Amino acid sequence: MEKTNAKIVILGAGLTGLTIAYGLQKIGIKATLLEARERLGGRIHTVKTAGGAPIELGATWLGPRHQALQGLLQELGLPLFPQNLGDNAIFEAISTSPPQLVKMPPNQDPSFRIAGGTSSLIDRLAATIAEKQLKLGEVVQSIDFVDQQCQIKTAQNSYPADIVISTLPPNLLVNTIDFSPALSANLVEVATQTHTWMGESIKVGLRFPNAFWRAPKLSGTVFSNVGPVSEMYDHANVEDTHFALKGFLSSGLYGASREQRLNLILQQLRKYYGTPVDEYSAYEEAIWRLERFSFFDYKSYVLPHQNNGHVALLDSYYEGRFFLAGAETSSSFGGYMEGAVLSANRIVATLTSLLKDA
Ligand SMILES: Cc1cc2nc3c(=O)[nH]c(=O)nc-3n(C[C@H](O)[C@H](O)[C@H](O)COP(=O)(O)OP(=O)(O)OC[C@H]3O[C@@H](n4cnc5c(N)ncnc54)[C@H](O)[C@@H]3O)c2cc1C
Repeated sequence: MEKTNAKIVILGAGLTGLTIAYGLQKIGIKATLLEARERLGGRIHTVKTAGGAPIELGATWLGPRHQALQGLLQELGLPLFPQNLGDNAIFEAISTSPPQLVKMPPNQDPSFRIAGGTSSLIDRLAATIAEKQLKLGEVVQSIDFVDQQCQIKTAQNSYPADIVISTLPPNLLVNTIDFSPALSANLVEVATQTHTWMGESIKVGLRFPNAFWRAPKLSGTVFSNVGPVSEMYDHANVEDTHFALKGFLSSGLYGASREQRLNLILQQLRKYYGTPVDEYSAYEEAIWRLERFSFFDYKSYVLPHQNNGHVALLDSYYEGRFFLAGAETSSSFGGYMEGAVLSANRIVATLTSLLKDA
């Protein structure tokens, strides 16, 4: 196939989809991205407000072992800054004992955040791709490989393609998109048992006018077995001028109301910090289980990271016209941003050798 003529369509404009489009562009191939949401980024979602700390409702941290991601960030000129953990953490072991201040162990694997928020990576990638290649609000419903040229149908449009690359979490893909002829039964079986990283999680964040948790004998780092917030961290911006706390809420609270969740969080934080907690200026949350373009419930119990990088996810289908990518398809760092970038790099390498120069 000639690379200048090939119609390549990528399903999903999260980190994987955008990194594939960016990589293909570097070798002279312009792909089209179909994204269901009205925003880019998928499981990367930084909520920004004027005069407030950006709050990460999706991916936040990376580490020194995430070399492919770090390479991409360097290439795009995006600096990192260390997660502020402090020397101590608030630890709550059981509900019948008061919370304690404990010394943090030396950190062997420091974590970093992206300056300006993780969405800066998405924005930077998107800026390299022509606007007409990015189609937002296009929910892919079916893919038809019956004729020589495949047809992708969304609610409003039909897109012809020579090659289709899905970046949807595999379990979501096989449960929400119809294929004709039907997808390989083995792939469907594996995909329905592939874990979607953080799919069930609830992320919460509160902005504050000052970082009262940095006072002596306090900490912004919280580990609690009592909950409902199990972990919480100092979430100031890179300039350290706007302040927030951000953490994980018990995933079982997805059925509660926003107000109920907020009240439970404030109640827990008052135990540690007292009344300054009530001076929050904004509350942000993401209930990922209810995000229909990220999560589809499993038919049976699936372990965290189960089947990430399975061979069936690395194969091509429909005579080399359909590929799977995405964080969950990576055998290294499956589910993480690093896995997303590795999977994108794998697809770009495959297509580079598949598509010869005209
Ligand atoms: C709460 C949370 C915290 C996380 N924390 C971290 C972290 O600290 N560090 C880390 O490395 N990773 C973290 N992750 C994981 C990280 O977000 C993912 O690895 C990465 O964003 C996956 O990118 P992706 O492009 O492969 O998938 P996705 O981001 O899921 O992209 C898939 C895209 O497909 C779109 N889509 C879905 N259905 C359709 C359809 N029918 N038609 C068209 N488009 C469709 C979606 O809208 C989405 O944009 C976290 C994830 C969550 C949810």
